[in-house]
Amino acid sequence: MIEFKGVSKTFSSNGQDIHALREIDLQIEKGDIYGVIGFSGAGKSTLIRTVNLIERPTAGEVIVNKENLMHLNSRQLQRAKRNIGMIFQHFNLLQSKTVFENVATPLRLVKTKKSAVNQRVNELLSYVGLEAFASRYPDQLSGGQKQRVGIARALASNPEILLCDEATSALDPETTSSILQLLKQINKEYNITILMITHELGVVREICNKVAVMDDGRIVEEGNVEKVLSQPVHETTKKFVRSIIPDDLPQKVKQHLENKESDERIYHVQITDDADQTALFNDLVHQGLNVSLLHASMHEIRETTFGSIYVRVKGDAVAQQAAQRYFDKTSSEIKEVTAHAGLVA
Ligand code: ADP
Repeated sequence: MIEFKGVSKTFSSNGQDIHALREIDLQIEKGDIYGVIGFSGAGKSTLIRTVNLIERPTAGEVIVNKENLMHLNSRQLQRAKRNIGMIFQHFNLLQSKTVFENVATPLRLVKTKKSAVNQRVNELLSYVGLEAFASRYPDQLSGGQKQRVGIARALASNPEILLCDEATSALDPETTSSILQLLKQINKEYNITILMITHELGVVREICNKVAVMDDGRIVEEGNVEKVLSQPVHETTKKFVRSIIPDDLPQKVKQHLENKESDERIYHVQITDDADQTALFNDLVHQGLNVSLLHASMHEIRETTFGSIYVRVKGDAVAQQAAQRYFDKTSSEIKEVTAHAGLVA
């Protein structure tokens, strides 16, 4: 649906080259809600702006719906852009126009018949829950309502792609959540592919199926959200994961470590399925091992639950070897905790 092939963008500022994008290769499939996350200055805005060529790459190709945008003339590009809606952090609404007129603007620009404009705008306002606000002006709306207008306007021309540029960053957590649910609904009901950039991992965790992590103009890690968040490899990804999943050793485990007896070992088990967790614990007990649960916690990443549990195995060398053999066989990630190790090692 959207493909970046070796996309680079270099800005020149005061005689200096700034490499905002460095050979980005990325593929976004139809129906994805693809999150691009990174700290400020990583290149996210530049990347998303190349999808409708607001920012023209210095090198590489941006392919949307099998069309290489770099090769289109201005009329062809205009047509291609109608298939790409965009919403913004600060909504970018026309302050002097009503809600109705803001949503109608893209339709009027392509000379849509008045009756069709009325029908489409009313339909969209109803979809985003703002039918009663049609004659208000943007400054009479809350942030969440403004973004709903932004979404209705972006959907006016029936695009297949929606770009979200930090779309919830100016909103409080509750409003953020309701806007994210609306985006999820749009993705599902209209099969619209969504590409969003954000500096908040919570946003990615809530609605994205795929994520790419950017750092210094590069994609440093990408893949399914569950995989990337549960097994982060790059330091930048780990920093983001720590922002939603604390990696401190629980207090109770710390105490046990300090007072550990010579026939005890403590293990940290990471699991990605509720059923596995019970099975693992039952199996250990059934093997006749003296196992106790020290601490358990759960984290939701989209519909998957990630468990982090700490168990203590007590017993002589033979028992410890039996436990180790069992751990080696399981699919869960298990590490012995000997010092103050963290969840995100
Ligand atoms: P992000 O969205 O991740 O914060 P940006 O894409 O805005 O990152 O910026 C990436 C880098 O490119 C930064 O170093 C930024 O200062 C620089 N940059 C962005 N736009 C311009 C511009 N128009 N002129 C010069 N430098 C720019």
